[in-house]
Amino acid sequence: MGDVRDVVIVGSGCAGLTAAIYAARANLAPLVLAGRMPGGLLTTTTVVENFPGFPEGVDGFALMSGMQKQAERFGAEVRFGEVEKVDLSRRPFALATDDGEVLARTLIVATGAGHRHLGLESERLLENKGVTYCATCDGALPMFRNQALVVVGGGDSAMEEAMYLTRFGSRVFVVHRRDQLRASKIMGERALGNPKIEFCWNSVVADVLGVGAGKVTGVRLRDVVTGAERELGCAGLFVAIGHVPNAAFLGGQLELDAEGYIALKGGTRTSVEGVFAAGDVADRVFRQAITAAGTGCAAAIEAERYLAGLG
Ligand code: NAP
Repeated sequence: MGDVRDVVIVGSGCAGLTAAIYAARANLAPLVLAGRMPGGLLTTTTVVENFPGFPEGVDGFALMSGMQKQAERFGAEVRFGEVEKVDLSRRPFALATDDGEVLARTLIVATGAGHRHLGLESERLLENKGVTYCATCDGALPMFRNQALVVVGGGDSAMEEAMYLTRFGSRVFVVHRRDQLRASKIMGERALGNPKIEFCWNSVVADVLGVGAGKVTGVRLRDVVTGAERELGCAGLFVAIGHVPNAAFLGGQLELDAEGYIALKGGTRTSVEGVFAAGDVADRVFRQAITAAGTGCAAAIEAERYLAGLG
């Protein structure tokens, strides 16, 4: 049997790294398996304006690398790599990673959430050929310069992406399925007041055009009230319609709620004793950096208490 770790944290976003800071400071030498997106979703954002303590805002990437350094300073080990499978029926828990097996007395699942897709075949075929899920990652690409760009969604992410894209595109269209935004008032007002942004209300993307050309050339929009369809030429489709929890790797061994979030049993406890969940993978309500950090802290404290009880 390989090394047994007291605490293994899966995920390295706000929740995972805060759990790592707390577990490391409790001398538990946690292992963080960083996953596919080290630093988590915040690394794909620009300026984080609502994380307390940064009156001028803080760069998302800088915030996350600071958290990682802080965790490492107290003895956390951050390892790149993905967890492919877990076995929660045995003790210690076994995790199959792309770099071999890891054994854990306690497990903190902080895998966050991934981008929700529209679910269109043309969207899938044109991914990375003009269809993207992250304006801050891809917006500056030459293919989008001085072109019409379309953002789908009515939440804070869509507003942020649309405003960011006005730096590059000739015009930015926001396609939203209702006639009211879900975004916070401040973000909504900023986008509504931006002269380079045009809103297409009550509209959905029925199809992405350009499959034959091998790149996005436009979208077919459907008005959900009248059913009328029209084409809108664009070089980029930025899908910002929310997220789905990253819980598939658990293979059904933890209880999930109807939307696929990990079901919590008080605090950060899950349906399996010794397994805790923190951040967006278990939070369908708040989904903020600071709440993720808060639950990460709670999960580390609960793991520490659980270990103390094991004797
Ligand atoms: P969100 O708030 O869940 O918004 C998702 C948007 O996509 C909604 O407008 C929703 O429409 C739309 N949508 C969902 N499924 C769709 C589908 N299949 N087709 C078309 N439209 C669809 O997600 P988010 O914008 O990613 O934000 C997530 C969380 O992060 C929020 O709590 C937000 O406040 C936070 N956030 C904050 C900031 C910031 O403060 N700087 C930036 C980004 C995100 P409906 O409105 O009709 O449901």
